[in-house]
Amino acid sequence: MAKKQFKAESKRLLDLMINSIYTHKEIFIRELISNASDAIDKSYYKSLTDTNINFNKDDFFIRISADKEDRTLTISDTGIGMTKEELESNLGTIAKSGSFDFKEKNETKDGIDIIGQFGVGFYSAFMVSDLVIVTSKALGSDTAYKWQSSGADGYSIEPCEKETTGTQITLKIKPNTDDNNYDEYLDEYNLKSLVKKYSDFIKYPIKMNVVKK
Ligand code: ADP
Ligand code: MG
Repeated sequence: MAKKQFKAESKRLLDLMINSIYTHKEIFIRELISNASDAIDKSYYKSLTDTNINFNKDDFFIRISADKEDRTLTISDTGIGMTKEELESNLGTIAKSGSFDFKEKNETKDGIDIIGQFGVGFYSAFMVSDLVIVTSKALGSDTAYKWQSSGADGYSIEPCEKETTGTQITLKIKPNTDDNNYDEYLDEYNLKSLVKKYSDFIKYPIKMNVVKK
């Protein structure tokens, strides 16, 4: 008998993801930092295999910035970035891991320890955010694209301006509720301790700045 493929209801899957996979909302920080680190690792890998690409250690870092007034938290990296097609396939398909594919395609070299594999971590951003905006410029590309989504109702992609190679992810942090104090993701002191808690194993520098008012 012919086998049929399982189908997944994406919206429900995303709801399930957002609401039940993770016990602590704060782990979105770990997920976004690990993706940023993976993106830098990929640039590093490319520089080992392509002599046209220079890997100058000082150019590679992760930046976390918060703006209390705008209620935005931004995590940016100077890593490999994503093309329009990669934004589409990696962020538009639940459980699609570009990092897993990257590891499959490229033999592992010392010093490369890409973390991603399940293709779901990114969506944890929606646990604390009602709008996620990703701007990205892929290594070797002149054009940048903006992907944005407010969750289960879908996403859009359009060209945008971005000077540097890499990815910037901006989360519009949810308003506080009786049960959840989302403000803590905009608070410098708390952010610092979360970053410390979840990124001890990250080998690239993490720079932080918080705008108060
Ligand atoms: P995983 O990390 O397990 O692969 P995620 O849901 O965290 O899954 O991310 C999905 C994919 O989106 C990644 O595999 C990667 O290809 C892409 N991606 C996510 N964040 C970034 C980033 N900051 N820079 C480049 N690519 C990214
Ligand atoms: Mg990930």
